[in-house]
Amino acid sequence: MRVAVISDIHGNAHALDAVLADVARERPDALWCLGDLVGYGPRPNRCTSLVASHADICLAGNHDLGVLGTIDIDEFSHDAAASAHWTRDVLEPEARDFLAGLSPERVTARAGLYHASPRSPVWEYVVSAEAAEAALADTTAPVVLVGHSHIALAILQSGEAISGGLAPADTEIELGRGRWLLNPGSVGQPRDGDPRAAWLLLDFRAGRAVFRRVEYDIASTQAEIRERGLPAGLATRLTLGA
Ligand code: ZN
Repeated sequence: MRVAVISDIHGNAHALDAVLADVARERPDALWCLGDLVGYGPRPNRCTSLVASHADICLAGNHDLGVLGTIDIDEFSHDAAASAHWTRDVLEPEARDFLAGLSPERVTARAGLYHASPRSPVWEYVVSAEAAEAALADTTAPVVLVGHSHIALAILQSGEAISGGLAPADTEIELGRGRWLLNPGSVGQPRDGDPRAAWLLLDFRAGRAVFRRVEYDIASTQAEIRERGLPAGLATRLTLGA
């Protein structure tokens, strides 16, 4: 079974279109999405409908839940809160209904999927070896998939040893060597210094995974952010991948 994993789309339709085109070329058996379809970005309805029609599994992220009002957005940063309020106003009933049916975690026979982490599926940022070790200790899944930090990661637990870290474009790993915590990176707002849209191809049959990056039309998403009066910083950070 070959699975494409995407996360943190954040209303960036140009990035999502580019990723879905790249995914289609690989003809995977399934598409899994780790949440945060909306928030920050200018095209929440289109992104939600694209994910709804393409994904076999989809989780809810903190931004999705914040926009729905399921969680409090008081803890959001200024730009995140401002875009959550804007998204609430423009979100169409179909998109709202789809998001309302999602959960921030899902365990399958092959992997545990969490928007943020097993112990805190909505909020915890897993960006250190310690946090990854704790996340792996909370599950028995051979592969733990997380999003939320917008940073592509591949961390391996083999016996007592923890290794790995950032997973830049074209990083390839062997799944059989131990238990893995993997973050595909973000489709719509990467924060690991590479502004290209990120996704992960998991090949369970061949026992390997590849971290992919795709160029997309950043300027068009930035223009849409400005047209809608969303905070300007949400546009500039896309160029930086930060
Ligand atoms: Zn996110």
